[in-house]
Amino acid sequence: MPNFKAQISQYSLKHILLLLAFGFCHLTLYSQSKLDVIYLDAGHGGKDPGTIGDKTGVQEKNIVLPVTIKLGKMIEEKYPYIKIIYSRTTDEFSHVRDRTIAANNNKAKLFVSIHANHKKLEESDKKGFEIYLLNKERFPEAVEFTMKQNYQIVFDQFGKDTLDNFIFSSLAHSGYTRFSEYLASIIEVNMISHTELISRGIIQAGNWVTLGASMPSVLVETGYLSDPDDEVYLSSEKGQNDVAIALFNAFLHYKTLYESN
Ligand SMILES: [Zn+2]
Repeated sequence: MPNFKAQISQYSLKHILLLLAFGFCHLTLYSQSKLDVIYLDAGHGGKDPGTIGDKTGVQEKNIVLPVTIKLGKMIEEKYPYIKIIYSRTTDEFSHVRDRTIAANNNKAKLFVSIHANHKKLEESDKKGFEIYLLNKERFPEAVEFTMKQNYQIVFDQFGKDTLDNFIFSSLAHSGYTRFSEYLASIIEVNMISHTELISRGIIQAGNWVTLGASMPSVLVETGYLSDPDDEVYLSSEKGQNDVAIALFNAFLHYKTLYESN
């Protein structure tokens, strides 16, 4: 490709950085097909309770933590070799940004963030679970953020010569979103079959929790704590077990697909 470098010189530095970030994501994804590091994010914690249940006053942080721990234990038992990084295993506070940075630094291959929702004051009643994906329109922002975190790592590890490959790779693939979308749909199917919660669907949004995670990622809103049925169910041992089992089964399917690529 004799004209490749000439073409690149026409790009602004910013464009190149964005493309490099895409490349970094894809090489991370495609060069290591074993799903051996995952990041489980129990939303909120410590001084940040998340949303509050209308009926019982249960705090979101105290629902999502046991669900996350249960899910992690199931994965650990079946796959002892998988390194699971938890955003928290106790009631402690950490910044959202620190969570994605930790996932990136540990080269996690999957990022799952677990939350519970609450309707806004002006909204009519809502119930059920939702799965959020990062809106493709916000991809440049996500990539720029990721790039700021990873540029030095890429440069240190691979050097200047490999940078062209990153650009090329970024142009050649878009598998990163495909995996997130697959995971979201398999979570939806399993949540429907293993829990008493209804599906509110998969939502593409300006998802700021997973923004900056350079691996396939989803955010699961397990239910509405403004809805008494969801609140009581998600507060119960059974409800938390059901959600963990649903997410675990989704993980099993996802792992098979991921490792067959
Ligand atoms: Zn939340």
